[in-house]
Amino acid sequence: MKKILVTRKLLKSNEEKLKKLFDVKLNPSDELYSQEKLIKMSEGCDGILSALTDKLDEKTIKSLPDSVKILSNFAVGFGNIDLNAASEKKMVVTNTPEVLTDATAEIGILLILGACRRVPEGIEGSKKGDWKWSADYLIGKQLTGTRLGILGMGRIGQKIGKVAKSLGMVIHYHNRSKLDSGKENGAIYHKTLESLMSVSDVLSVCCPASKETINLINKKTISLLPNGAIVTNVARGDIVDDDALIEALDSKKVSAVGLDVYKNEPKLNPGYLKHSRAFVLPHLGSATFETRTAMANLAIDNISEFFETGSCKNKVN
Ligand code: NAP
Repeated sequence: MKKILVTRKLLKSNEEKLKKLFDVKLNPSDELYSQEKLIKMSEGCDGILSALTDKLDEKTIKSLPDSVKILSNFAVGFGNIDLNAASEKKMVVTNTPEVLTDATAEIGILLILGACRRVPEGIEGSKKGDWKWSADYLIGKQLTGTRLGILGMGRIGQKIGKVAKSLGMVIHYHNRSKLDSGKENGAIYHKTLESLMSVSDVLSVCCPASKETINLINKKTISLLPNGAIVTNVARGDIVDDDALIEALDSKKVSAVGLDVYKNEPKLNPGYLKHSRAFVLPHLGSATFETRTAMANLAIDNISEFFETGSCKNKVN
């Protein structure tokens, strides 16, 4: 039986499945392992079922035992893993695409609605009981007819585009490559990010975190947005320069933000907290029972497939 280190506590049914298939080292207290502890825990293991909270950088990967042949990441994103270092060590890295697209797109739409319709201020007003209906109370931005710019029109971006279109938004997008017309579903392609920013009344960041996308949303690109634009991010915190976005909120260049992900999670840049028009969520993208179950099952199946066939369809390196 292959020995697998599972770095985070999973749902019960997933852990039961793991126990049937492998000799598993589970983490019942869900301790957040330091890099040193993760290296120590992986001694004697053939694979690791990792999570986005594990920073598998070059130094950590180089220090992992040679017996570890697969890093099965419990996420579609793999910005937490240095792919080159893994490849150099002949370690396969896999992810969990598709199964979390719908749940994450739901949160992407929630961020757009929450930021556009001033939900944080509405919740605060309701709880304090100090509100009264009036014609101009908490006037927000209506989605109908509003342009939505999607940065990263992949699986999640396309689903957000589809739902937003049904709500009357006009969809624009930027990817490095233009999609075929079926996947575009009427959305307008922008060859450059600069061009996309200039038409984005609402921006939805949906691209992966990578060396190319770090701080892609920065002072310069934010300056290209229409005045009073709304910025949402359902992808990864590393893509946004927080100081630049907070400065844009301060100056009202950006009128509201909707964020699910942050640099240095779980710590939010405190600059966001002083803004009543910051709609902030604690990385809830894939957090439904169905999706978390399916993600873990896929991460487990990726390990089985790799040890049975020597490869895996969800290999990313
Ligand atoms: P995907 O299908 O691979 O889509 C990624 C899209 O980004 C592609 O269309 C890609 O198009 C584009 N892209 C990549 N690099 C780019 C660049 N440098 N400039 C512009 N566009 C670029 O991935 P997905 O399944 O939609 O997931 C997207 C991301 O969402 C994940 O990587 C993950 O970080 C994040 N996510 C977050 C949560 C959450 O809990 N909030 C949950 C799931 C996923 P081109 O290759 O043509 O550029």
